[in-house]
Amino acid sequence: MTEETLLDRALVRLDQAASHLQIDPDVIEKLKYPRETIKVRLLIRMDDGSRKSFLAWRCRYDDTRGPTKGGIRFHPDAAVEEVETLAFWMTFKCAVMNLPYGGGKGAVRVDPRQLSKAELERVSRSYMQAFAHVIGPDRDIPAPDVYTNAMIMGWMADEYYQLAGQVRPAVITGKPISLGGSLGRDDATARGGFYLLRHLAGELGLGSEMRVAVQGFGNAGQFIAKLLAAEGHKIVAVSDSSGAIHAPGGLDVEALIARKRAGQPVTAMANEAGVQSIAPDALLGVHCDVLVPAALEDMITKDNADAIKAKVVLELANGPVTADADAILEKKGIVVLPDILANAGGVTVSYFEWVQNRQGYYWDLEEVHQRLLKTMEREGRAVWNISRERGTSVRTAAYIHALSRLANAIEEHGTQSYFIS
Ligand code: GLU
Repeated sequence: MTEETLLDRALVRLDQAASHLQIDPDVIEKLKYPRETIKVRLLIRMDDGSRKSFLAWRCRYDDTRGPTKGGIRFHPDAAVEEVETLAFWMTFKCAVMNLPYGGGKGAVRVDPRQLSKAELERVSRSYMQAFAHVIGPDRDIPAPDVYTNAMIMGWMADEYYQLAGQVRPAVITGKPISLGGSLGRDDATARGGFYLLRHLAGELGLGSEMRVAVQGFGNAGQFIAKLLAAEGHKIVAVSDSSGAIHAPGGLDVEALIARKRAGQPVTAMANEAGVQSIAPDALLGVHCDVLVPAALEDMITKDNADAIKAKVVLELANGPVTADADAILEKKGIVVLPDILANAGGVTVSYFEWVQNRQGYYWDLEEVHQRLLKTMEREGRAVWNISRERGTSVRTAAYIHALSRLANAIEEHGTQSYFIS
C-alpha cells in the first residue's frame, strides 16, 4: 500500500463536499490533480564565495476561474506534496471568496534564518528568474507566505520587471507600499479572521470579553492578538518555535510584539509577573474561548485534539487541523472556522492590490477595510447558512460553497451530456 500524502488527505474534503452537490464527474476529474508543478534547483552564490543549491517549486493547481494565485514559502521542510496541497487550498479559498482567481503556491526549501540579507535577496531574485515564464499578471500571481515578506516581494517584482522590460506591479502582491503595495495588506489575514469572528460571535456563543490562545506568533499571530486585545479581549497564551507562555490574567500584547520585533522569542516574557512558561502542546489545553492556530499545517491532530477546551478554533494557518482531529472537535461541539474562509483576508486584500495596480488608482486604508469587511461578512454568512441548512461542519460548508462555484465554471465548458445526446 502506498502511503497517503498530504494532498490525498486534503482531497477527502473535496469528496465530502461533492457528496452534497449534483455535480458532473468532469469537475472532480479536473480538480483532483494539480495542472502543473515545476521544480528547479536554485544555484546561489553564498557570501563566502561558495555555491549552494536549493530546491524550489511553483504549482499552478487550477485556473478555471482566473489566473492562479498564491504565496511563496521559504521553509527548510518545504516539499512538493505540501506545495501542491497549499495550491489546492488556494483554489478553494479564492472560490469561497469569489475572487476571479485559480489557486497556486510556491516554495523554496531553505531556512531563511540561516541566510545573510544579501543571500536572501539572491534566493528571491533567483526564484523569479527560474519561474518568470509561468508567472505574470494574467497567468500566476505570487504573494508572501510563511517566512517571506514585503521586501522579498519587492525584490521578486523588480527581477520580473528587468526580465520583462516593463514595470508590471500586478505580477506579485504583498509588495512594499512605496512599490505599489496596498494599504492594509500587512494585517489582512488576521483582520479578515477578526471580522469573521466578530460577525459570527452571536451564533458561536462568544461574549464581549473573550479569552484567546494563539499558536504561532508570526505575521498572522501577532496581528490577530493586537486586533483582539484592542477590542478588550484577553490573549491568555501564545507560542512560537521557542516554546509557549501562559498568562491567565492576559498578556501585554504590545510589549510582546515589541520584543518579538527586537528578535526575542515569546518565552523571553516568561519571567514577567503573571506569565509562566508552558510546554508548547500545553497551549492547546489552556482555558479559553477561542484558539487561533497561526503556525503551520497538521498542528492539531488526533493525539492532541482531545485536550482543547476552546469553543471556537479560528484557523489563520493553512491546514492546521487534520481530518481526524476535525472529527474529534466536532464531537466535542467545538466549531472550527476553516482556513479557506478564516484566513482568506490575506488573498482578498492581495486581490485589491492587483486591482489597484491594474487601474493605477490607489485606495485609502478606510476603503480597503470596508471592502474586506463586506467580503468577509458576505461569504462568511453564506458559508454559515449552508452549514446550518445542510447540518454540516463549517469546513464542509465552505467546501460546498467553493465547489459549487468551481463546478459552475468547469461545467460551462460542456460536460458529457452536452457532447453525447
Ligand atoms: N499566502 C497567503 C495564503 O495562504 C496569501 C496568498 C495571496 O495573497 O495570494 O492565503
